[in-house]
Amino acid sequence: MKKLLMCAVTMLLVLCLIAGPASAARAAGSAGGVPPLSAGAVPRLAGEEGDPDEEGDPGAPDDSYDPDESGDPDEPGDTGDPEEPEEPPVPEPEEPYVRVIDPSKPMVALTFDDGPHDTWSNAILDVLEENHALATFFEVGRNVRAHPEPVQRMAELGCEIASHSNAHKDLSKLKKKTLIKDLDTADAAFTDAGVEPPALVRPPYGAVNKNVKSATGRSIVTWTVDTEDWRSRDAQAVIDYVQNYGDLDGEIVLMHSIYESTADAVRVLVPWLQEQGYQLVTVTELLAYYYGELPQPDRFYGYTYFSSHGRTDTPVPLPGETVPGAGVPAEEPAEEETPDTPAALADEPEAPAESESPAEEAPAETDKEWKPVRVPDTVDLAPASIPNPALFMP
Ligand SMILES: [Zn+2]
Repeated sequence: MKKLLMCAVTMLLVLCLIAGPASAARAAGSAGGVPPLSAGAVPRLAGEEGDPDEEGDPGAPDDSYDPDESGDPDEPGDTGDPEEPEEPPVPEPEEPYVRVIDPSKPMVALTFDDGPHDTWSNAILDVLEENHALATFFEVGRNVRAHPEPVQRMAELGCEIASHSNAHKDLSKLKKKTLIKDLDTADAAFTDAGVEPPALVRPPYGAVNKNVKSATGRSIVTWTVDTEDWRSRDAQAVIDYVQNYGDLDGEIVLMHSIYESTADAVRVLVPWLQEQGYQLVTVTELLAYYYGELPQPDRFYGYTYFSSHGRTDTPVPLPGETVPGAGVPAEEPAEEETPDTPAALADEPEAPAESESPAEEAPAETDKEWKPVRVPDTVDLAPASIPNPALFMP
């Protein structure tokens, strides 16, 4: 008996299994579809028993099902809409990066002196490029002549190229004529390298006198934060100094592009600064957007200037740029940001700072009165007035 029962049960099961697919096929057929697509509910079946040859493209079967199933109200997912392949192909991931500076937000200017250096200038440029950041390079004219390539790359990236004299001499010890000649010689090196003669000059060692400050036809800029990277030659020391400095908004950070340790520090500091919310801008951008002034010829931007000025309410647009306006993002040209900044500066834009006497810090000085550790200008700068001669003076 039991065996008979078992047999009956088994046969029933077998019957069911056979009847299943058949009824499914009938159902599909009655829905108006083509029998082979019966497995519409089970696409893989169609693939297996259908014509695999026509389905080499996995996307094809779906398309071929749509018309058939369009009449099936049970398929909410497949409403039969002619799919709009417009959207998927539009993912435009390679949109060109557009740099936008918001004058109302924190910004800091990283500056690098004494280059260009074939290896370390380029290492720093790599980091800047990867992070869509800009910096200002105060280059030594004769180094530019020897290594023009990094300077050209700086220009391509939109970094600001500035002069650090031709031979890294103490400019405050030169007679005016010699001083001008030195700067002109440096300018020729920049021109020969294919970039505009810089409008900004940072005097070696931060050493200035009246002539350097206001008789060169250039804008003289020092710095406000000295990492002393030349002294430590230690990336971590530089990183620690900057990270522990405190508020860097509106500051100009001094480093040197001729040390591996500095390049290593920059690799950490650039993304870190951006994570802290700082926009990395050029010196000219900082002056325009933060201090509200375009660099003026024969004007000295030293410690006194930066410590006595705060964030402006009226950021100034860079030449050729649309007005940024306070708090309004200033859009840079799409491809390269202000590649012509230094040259454009020579145009002497409106609003020259006539009211601010360029000689505000000059009275105490004479040509003979060079004081490498002059009070305001060299408070932060004093250490840098020792290091580099050996590196550059033959
Ligand atoms: Zn220097």
